[in-house]
Amino acid sequence: MGKPHVFVRFGNCNLRCEWCDTNFLEYEELYLDDIIQKILSFRCNRVVFTGGEPCLQDLNTIGKELKKYDINLSVETNGTIAVPEIIDWICVSPKDQLYPNSVINQKFGDELKIVYCGQDLKLYDELKHGFDHIFLQPCYFENESVEWNGKNFVETENIVKINNEWRLSLQTHKWLGVD
Ligand code: SF4
Repeated sequence: MGKPHVFVRFGNCNLRCEWCDTNFLEYEELYLDDIIQKILSFRCNRVVFTGGEPCLQDLNTIGKELKKYDINLSVETNGTIAVPEIIDWICVSPKDQLYPNSVINQKFGDELKIVYCGQDLKLYDELKHGFDHIFLQPCYFENESVEWNGKNFVETENIVKINNEWRLSLQTHKWLGVD
C-alpha cells in the first residue's frame, strides 16, 4: 500500500461472493503482447494481478515476460488455486465465510486479508500461520444499509483495537477514488 502499481484486472472468477464489487463477467480478450505493452506504457515497475480470480489465468507466462523488464509481481487471490512461484508477493483473501466447502490451496504467502462481515475469526486459526501479515478489512456491502456497513466497520475497528495480531486494512484506492 502506498506504492504505485499497475493493476491488471482479469475477467471471470470461480466464486460468486454476494458483496463482490467487481463486474468480472464483462471483459475484453487481449493477446499477451498487447497486455505487456499496455503495462510497460505506465513506466511503473510494480504490477498487481487481480480480478475476478487472477489464478484462473496463466500467470507464469505473463510473469516471465514481465520479469524481462524487472517488474515486481503481486497477486490478490481467493486462494482456491495455487499461485505460481514467479509471483513476488502473495495476498490471499479467502471467501470461506461464504463458501465453507471451498478448499484453500494457497496456504502460505505474504499477506492474509480477511473481509470481515461478522464471521468467527477462529475460521482462520490454522491458515493465518502461513502468512507474514494478517489483515482484517471491513466488508462494504452495497446492498446493505448505511447502518449495517457502519456497524460492521466499527466492529472491525474494535477487533483490531483489542487484538493486535490483526491489522486494519482499508480499500485505499476507493477512498482515493481510483477504480
Ligand atoms: S472471490 Fe473476489 S472476485 Fe471472486 S466473487 Fe468473490 S470477491 Fe468477487
